[in-house]
Amino acid sequence: MKILDYQNLVHPGLLHTVTKHHPLYSDLASEINILYVQEKDHCGIRIGMDQSANVTLTIHPIIRPSERDKYILYHEFGHIADRLNPYFGYNHEKRLNLSQAQEECFMQIWNVFIDARLHHHGLFRLPPGGEVDIVVDGTKYRLPRTEVSTYLLEASAHLSQRGIRKPGALVTGIWNYPTRFLTFEDLLAPLSY
Ligand SMILES: [Zn+2]
Repeated sequence: MKILDYQNLVHPGLLHTVTKHHPLYSDLASEINILYVQEKDHCGIRIGMDQSANVTLTIHPIIRPSERDKYILYHEFGHIADRLNPYFGYNHEKRLNLSQAQEECFMQIWNVFIDARLHHHGLFRLPPGGEVDIVVDGTKYRLPRTEVSTYLLEASAHLSQRGIRKPGALVTGIWNYPTRFLTFEDLLAPLSY
């Protein structure tokens, strides 16, 4: 893996550690061709990969990595780990055919699946502070971001707003059984398409 980080956003040693020793894929670094690192914009943190195994990580500058920063890197590379895992069965063509709401639901469910496994490996970290407003059944609740229950409720609320039925059971089921491996198709199954 060759790193191209022109703005020096993330220490290369940290990128090597996360990709060499990722809990969801034994040696991600050897599968990645070029890793491009670019600064986060209004679209937020994300990761992508092309057909030549070139990966683009879009992220905030990480000078002195906090535990939360390290978790974020493990999370983003978790998407790459799953895409490279033949058992996951990632299908990019199928994904491109999803509606915007379906894509958002798919990403939400995939994020919880990645976080559940990182939590199982002791790498998941909640934000260090802050509050979030979540609407459940028409009632708005202001909840601390520092609780797992808030994290799970926020994921459920996003799915509920996009028409997923019984999102709470779906999200807690994934969270509570991190060793049950789900495939790309399993993650799409709750979506009506
Ligand atoms: Zn994600």
